[in-house]
Amino acid sequence: MQLTITDDAYQSLLEQALKDAPIESCGYLLGPDRQTVTQNYPMRNVDQSEEHFSFDPKEQFAAVKYARQNGLAIVGNWHSHPASPSRPSAEDIRLAFDPNILYFILSLAGKQPVFNAFAIADGKVKEKVCLR
Ligand SMILES: [Zn+2]
Repeated sequence: MQLTITDDAYQSLLEQALKDAPIESCGYLLGPDRQTVTQNYPMRNVDQSEEHFSFDPKEQFAAVKYARQNGLAIVGNWHSHPASPSRPSAEDIRLAFDPNILYFILSLAGKQPVFNAFAIADGKVKEKVCLR
């Protein structure tokens, strides 16, 4: 599976993550179909933690409504790892309840940011999705 993300969407989430660091940052990624991300929908990390994140259920509801009203699909959600690699932690895998969306992780731990997407189901990482 391959996935396209627009520069605008990537820049938007990168700026958000850099601004929130060292707290983990998060959001939804929306697009016209499940293979294309055109928009970052910024969300608040209610945990305000450097090691994990939680969405605000009210914001999640608003994001779903926004996507529906604009004819966009929820391709996935993303969060940042300010100081660890771009792969799902055990907790990330445990909390990945929806097999129909992708889980994106932006790592800020290295010299350059690293952004990957993962398909997670049944408590396992099924696929690392190629981004372009
Ligand atoms: Zn994580």
